Amino acid sequence: MAIRTYKNFIDGKWVASSSGKTFDNINPANKKEILGRFQKSNANDLNNAVKSAVKAQECWRNLPAPKRGEILFRVGELLIKHKESLAQDMTREMGKVLNETRGDVQEAIDLTYYTAGEGRRLQGETVPSELNNKFCMTVRMPVGVVAAITPWNFPIAIPSWKLIPALICGNTVVFKPASDTPLSAYRFVKLFEEAGLPPGVLNFITGTGTEIGEPLVEHHNINLVSFTGSTDTGAKVAHKCAWNMKQYSLEMGGKNAIIVMDDANLDLAVEGVIWGAFGTTGQRCTACSRVIVHKKVLKKFTNLLLKRTKALRLGDGLKNTTDVGPLINEAQRQKVLGYCKVGVGEGAKLLLGGNVFKNGKCRNGFFFEPTLFAGVSPKMRIAQEEIFGPVLSILECKSLENAVEIVNDSRFGLSSAIYTQDVNRAFKAIEKLDTGLTYINSSTIGAEVQLPFGGTKGTGNGHREAGTTALEIFTEWKSVFVDYSGTLQKAQIED
Ligand code: NAD
Repeated sequence: MAIRTYKNFIDGKWVASSSGKTFDNINPANKKEILGRFQKSNANDLNNAVKSAVKAQECWRNLPAPKRGEILFRVGELLIKHKESLAQDMTREMGKVLNETRGDVQEAIDLTYYTAGEGRRLQGETVPSELNNKFCMTVRMPVGVVAAITPWNFPIAIPSWKLIPALICGNTVVFKPASDTPLSAYRFVKLFEEAGLPPGVLNFITGTGTEIGEPLVEHHNINLVSFTGSTDTGAKVAHKCAWNMKQYSLEMGGKNAIIVMDDANLDLAVEGVIWGAFGTTGQRCTACSRVIVHKKVLKKFTNLLLKRTKALRLGDGLKNTTDVGPLINEAQRQKVLGYCKVGVGEGAKLLLGGNVFKNGKCRNGFFFEPTLFAGVSPKMRIAQEEIFGPVLSILECKSLENAVEIVNDSRFGLSSAIYTQDVNRAFKAIEKLDTGLTYINSSTIGAEVQLPFGGTKGTGNGHREAGTTALEIFTEWKSVFVDYSGTLQKAQIED
C-alpha cells in the first residue's frame, strides 16, 4: 500500500513544508511498518505558522468565551466519535496497549469537556475598594500566541492539556508535537478543523526539536511557551524564554516512588507497583521506578512482585493478550539497556530482565524485558536518574521517616504513593512527601483532569496544568478600578 504523506496546518490550510523534505513515522512494535510521512519543517514554515497565529489573535480573543467553548465542545464530541480509531492509530505509532491508548483519548475527552465549560466561567474577583464610589475587580486576559511543545508518551492527552485551555482563554496556538507521534497529533488537529475552529487559531507544524522547537521558543512573536518533555530540554527552554522575556510553563521528568509499609495489603501493593512500573512500558512521567519497602515485609513483597512481573506478556499493543508494548525507539532502548548495565556495575542485584527482547514476533520492534533490581541503595544512579523504561528498583526502608527521606532525595518531585492501613501514617506521608501528586493505597499513576497536575523541584517551574490552575498559565490578570465618584480620588492619600 502507498505510504501517505501528511502536511502542516497553517492558516486553516494543509500545506507542505518549503523544505520539500519529510520524515517517516514508524511502528515501534514493527519498525518495518511505516505509518506515514510527515513534513520536515524549516524556519520558513515556522514563520508562516507564527504569522498566521498572530493574525488570528484579534478575532479569536474577541469571540465571546462561551462561543469559543461551543467549538471546543464539538471537539469533545468528535473525540468521542473517533475514540476507537484514534486509539488504534496511537497504539500503532506509540506502542502502548489499546486499553491505555483508549485511556489517553478519554483523558482528552474529559479535559475538553471540563475546560470548554470554562467558557462560561473564566472567573475573576470583585473586591472592596478602600475608597467610596469606586469598584474593583479582576478580569482574565489571553496571553497572546502560545507555542505548545509536546512529548510522545501521551500523544493526544498531553496536547489536549495545552491546546484546550490555551484556546478557551482566547490565545492562538502553534503546536509542535514530538516527531515519534505526529499521526495522533495530526488527527487531533483535524478534529479542531472539523469542529469549525477559525483559520489560523491553531497551527500545526512537524519537525525536530532543534530545527523547529528551538526557533519556535525563540520566536519574537511567541508570548508563552507551554512545554512538556525531559528536564534537560525544559532547562534549555527556560533559558531561552528567560533571555527573551517570555512566559513559560514546564512539565518535565520524574523519579516516582511507591512506599510499601509493613502493614500494607501486599497483594494490592504489588498490583499498584506493576501498573506503575510496567504500564506504558515505564514510559510515563509518573511511572513508578522506585519501590521502597519496609524491611519486615521486603522478602515477601519481593517474591510476590517477582512472580507477578515474570507473568507479564510482551507484544504488539493491538493484541489483547499483550500486557507490555515496545519502547518508543531504538535510542530509548539503548538508553534503558545502558541503565541496566549501570545498575549491575553499581552492585545492584538483577532479579529479572535487564536486556532487549527479540523473541518471535517481537524481533522487529523495540521491546525490552521487564526488569527488577533488588538491593538498590538511594544514591545509585538507577535510583536517582529518570530511566523511562520498564526498570524497577527495590529499596529497603526501616521506618516511614526513612522511606520519606529516600523518596525526597531526588532532583524530581512529580508523583509518590504509599501503601499502608494506618491513617496516621497516610496523613504524615501526605504532609512530608515533596511531590506534586501523592496517592494513598494506589499507584503513582491515576491523575484526573479536574485536579492540578505537575511537580516540584526539577519536574516543573511552579505551574500546574489541568484543573482550574491551567487558567493561571494561559491568562494574564488585569486589575480594574472603576471610579464613579466624579472627583479625583487618590488611593493611599485620601482620608
Ligand atoms: P524531549 O524533551 O526530548 O522532547 C519533548 C519535546 O520537545 C518534543 O516535541 C521535542 O521535539 C521538543 N524539543 C527537543 N529539543 C528541543 C529544544 N531544544 N527546544 C524546544 N523543543 C525541543 O522529551 P521526550 O523524550 O519527547 O519525552 C519524554 C520526557 O517527557 C520524559 O522526561 C518525561 O518524564 C517527560 N514528560 C513529562 C510529563 C509531565 O507532565 N511532567 C508528561 C509526559 C512526559
